[in-house]
Amino acid sequence: MCRLNAQAVYLSIFSRTLQVNKPKIIPRPEHNVSRANISRNAQKVLYRLHNSGFQSFLVGGGVRDVMLGLHPKDFDIATNAHPEEIKALFSNCRLIGRRFRLAHIRFGREIIEVATFRAPADHDDEYADVAHDQEGRILRDNVYGEVDDDVWRRDFTCNALYYNIADFSIWDYVGGIEDINKRVVKLIGDPEQRLREDPVRMLRAVRFAAKLNFSIDPNIVNAMQPLAGLLANVPSSRLFDEFIKLFQSGFAKPTFAMMREHFLFRELFPETERALLTDEKFGRFVQIALENTDGRVKNDQSVSPMFLLGVFFWAPVLEIANNLRADRKMSEGQALAVAAADVVSWHQTRISIPRRFSAPMREMIALQPRFTTTKGRRALTLLEHKRFRAAYDFMLLRAELGDVDQDLAKFWTDIQTCSQEERMDRLHLGGKSIKGANSGTECGAPSRKRPRRRRAKSAKPKSKP
Ligand code: ATP
Ligand code: MG
Repeated sequence: MCRLNAQAVYLSIFSRTLQVNKPKIIPRPEHNVSRANISRNAQKVLYRLHNSGFQSFLVGGGVRDVMLGLHPKDFDIATNAHPEEIKALFSNCRLIGRRFRLAHIRFGREIIEVATFRAPADHDDEYADVAHDQEGRILRDNVYGEVDDDVWRRDFTCNALYYNIADFSIWDYVGGIEDINKRVVKLIGDPEQRLREDPVRMLRAVRFAAKLNFSIDPNIVNAMQPLAGLLANVPSSRLFDEFIKLFQSGFAKPTFAMMREHFLFRELFPETERALLTDEKFGRFVQIALENTDGRVKNDQSVSPMFLLGVFFWAPVLEIANNLRADRKMSEGQALAVAAADVVSWHQTRISIPRRFSAPMREMIALQPRFTTTKGRRALTLLEHKRFRAAYDFMLLRAELGDVDQDLAKFWTDIQTCSQEERMDRLHLGGKSIKGANSGTECGAPSRKRPRRRRAKSAKPKSKP
């Protein structure tokens, strides 16, 4: 009897699983995902896996964006080949990742990411390589599975469509196509559990909603607010990577608004959020910077994360710098440099900013007071400084808000395009040479570089005790 009962339970679970795990298969004539919109390199990888006897699907943004008529920023592939099997098929393959082992197949500048199908992290297997933290965050879940398993560990329904290279059909297990048509970001499974497993999904929800102009499913919104604090447990380096995607994909302005609306921004930048709540002018400063950043991305101009970080940190830095100047005898530039270092190091536990960005950001900020000097060598060295361009752009932003005199901003704009002779005149350096300038255009006056070095040498012994 007991055995029969167990069998009945098993059968009912099995049939339920079968029902849930059956995808809706949309044949090629009934969808708009064409190979013409899939990168040739991604197709090469899909076909080689397929021709070697493995299943191979295009997944994630590659399918979603093509369906929406957008250009995917990268192409992700899912397969039943294991990482070592993938590596054996591609000489240009590198295995990466600790939490997820992934294959990166490089074609010049394009990287195609290939992931082996995974089973959900709660897979009932004694050999499963699975670990969670106390809050339910997944630390490791390298459990391989089938495509039927893989779909449940994807984040949103719109990201869980599988394009099968074998017959160009799309497999939809979770109603992803319907949600794309309804333009809604919806989590697969229980929102609270899925956000606890990986709190970065909160940021991803906002990122996709902002980029695709989708709404966020109210069930996610409701789950998000009490869980936003869990972002503090996410490794700060991962949050920096996510910061880049959030703010440098061309949708920084709507992303910022949604992050604030859902109380996520303050988890990454608490001091900025505090300043935004009280300082309306700082809010406008940030808005203009976000608009500029989006404009640059859309025009294919370069953007460095240090600029926007400098903007986010500007109000907190100014506050500390003003206190420093009141307490100690420091120049404005010194105080700004110390304050910027302070703010960055305070934020490292939230969002770790690599030195290659924090160091130039500090310089950009510390150079701000130098723009008030428009004459002499000091002005010239500012113009030749390796951070001049970023510092100048930053100063222009401040000028838009009226924090820098418009005539002063115009002076620094004009001086960049005038002839060298005129430049020297404007800097009141007529007759002096410019570093790197053709001496034939100068009046032949000796450069001050050498005498300066000599003075520095002779000063050295004096400073010794
Ligand atoms: P885009 O590349 O435009 O940022 P994407 O959807 O392709 O968007 P990726 O970060 O490239 O996003 O990830 C590829 C796919 O992997 C996602 O579509 C999703 O199915 C899955 N995925 C990525 N990150 C997560 C996550 N944190 N939790 C669950 N699934 C994820
Ligand atoms: Mg992608």
